[in-house]
Amino acid sequence: IFDLELKKVGKVFDNGTTAVSEFDLSVSKGEFIAFLGPSGCGKTTTLRMIAGFESISSGDMMIKGVRMNDVPPEHRPTSMIFQSYALFPHMTVRRNVGYGLEVKGLSDADRNAKVDRILATLGLEDIADRKPDKLSGGQRQRIALARGLVVEPDILLLDEPLGALDANLRKAIQNELKLLQKNLGVTFIFVTHAQSEALALSDRIVVMNQGRVEQISPPHQLYTRP
Ligand code: ADP
Ligand code: ADP
Repeated sequence: IFDLELKKVGKVFDNGTTAVSEFDLSVSKGEFIAFLGPSGCGKTTTLRMIAGFESISSGDMMIKGVRMNDVPPEHRPTSMIFQSYALFPHMTVRRNVGYGLEVKGLSDADRNAKVDRILATLGLEDIADRKPDKLSGGQRQRIALARGLVVEPDILLLDEPLGALDANLRKAIQNELKLLQKNLGVTFIFVTHAQSEALALSDRIVVMNQGRVEQISPPHQLYTRP
């Protein structure tokens, strides 16, 4: 059974724009998948359909064999991480990371245990009581990652999460993402328009163009044809 399956998934927006057509993909648990392609090719729309922030116009989307088309985002085993971090500036790091669990109504003790564990995993213990607006881009990105991971998703969805970082930080966060993949067994779906990033991170690359899948292959076979 696959972690994620897209079966001829399509998206037509209300204004008539076809953003995605007949998208087929099967992802195994713990795989790291990159969606690669130029701006406007449908990467973000596909990611948002998986998260449930965008409705699916045609086809089927399954997670662990369960059809997700009509399941709202908060009931899907997914977390989405944005390039803009989307952190609450007035809340401490700890509260930002625990917010999703707070909303779910977890007890303070349960929440703190989970938050402490993920803060330690990402090396954020020392800044747990600070506010995000005083922190660096790399720290903020780690906080956003911690907030996505603390709810223990099966699938982590990342929309160009490294775009705002300088080259050194990008490399450091890339390494952390690979470690998280190995240690937590989470499935990663990662949107990027940078080929180097897709090559560095993913087990398989989905090359998209004008709403269609052009190629799905491991990094070493990218753009080579049989
Ligand atoms: P990418 O993430 O690859 O840059 P997007 O998924 O954002 O591409 O966009 C795919 C296509 O869908 C583009 O033509 C874009 O303009 C269009 N699009 C995205 N969001 C909307 C929307 N809410 N309404 C209409 N068209 C949209
Ligand atoms: P990206 O290319 O990084 O995905 P965009 O600049 O294409 O981002 O889109 C930013 C936001 O605007 C997204 O939420 C997208 O859904 C929306 N959007 C993009 N194109 C259109 C469009 N033609 N009509 C309405 N909304 C759009």
